[in-house]
Amino acid sequence: MIAGKVIFIVALIMQIIIRYPYRKRVDYSKSDRQERFLLLLITIGGVVIPFIYIFSGWLAFADYRLPGWLVGVGAVIMAGGLWLFWRAHTDLGHNWSSTLEIQAQHTLVTTGVYRRIRHPMYSAMWLMILAQPFLLTNWLAGFCGLVTFGAMYFLRVPKEEALMLQTFGDPYRQYMAQTGRIFPTGGFR
Ligand code: SAH
Repeated sequence: MIAGKVIFIVALIMQIIIRYPYRKRVDYSKSDRQERFLLLLITIGGVVIPFIYIFSGWLAFADYRLPGWLVGVGAVIMAGGLWLFWRAHTDLGHNWSSTLEIQAQHTLVTTGVYRRIRHPMYSAMWLMILAQPFLLTNWLAGFCGLVTFGAMYFLRVPKEEALMLQTFGDPYRQYMAQTGRIFPTGGFR
């Protein structure tokens, strides 16, 4: 369905625009191999395979059909994800990085969308990844993002929280006690 593909591409462009003011030079050679592998993996699942699906007929064998209103549901989920993605970038400011690192002037953010959720940017990414199978009606292109982002989320978050604890100590421990990872209610801790 063409509308879903167009919405997916527009959303990708919006993510780039939201992120653009916070871009920085990252020396990826300093990240560990797992981190580099995970970043490559989410690019494949979130961009490369979707683009192969959108711009070639190669994956057509794995297409499925959805009623139009479900594509609309996907668009709404995507819009919610983009909103949270934007808010999280605004609140995290210069502390944002595509990889796990502590900036020279890193501050612990505990306000805005970070007040009740420790990883609102990952909550936003879960929403956008969840929208993908509604927008790209193809078993491979729709679901590859869930697999690759899921791997990155579950492997990265424990490391990220360990890094934050090591850097900020008790204030982060306290912050963990009053927040949930991706849900404000603390679902999945
Ligand atoms: N996991 C967060 C941030 C993702 S960006 C989220 O989903 O919203 C990744 C960078 O953010 C890492 O380098 C990490 O050190 C930093 N970070 C994570 N939580 C933070 C917080 N509460 N305050 C400041 N920096 C944070």
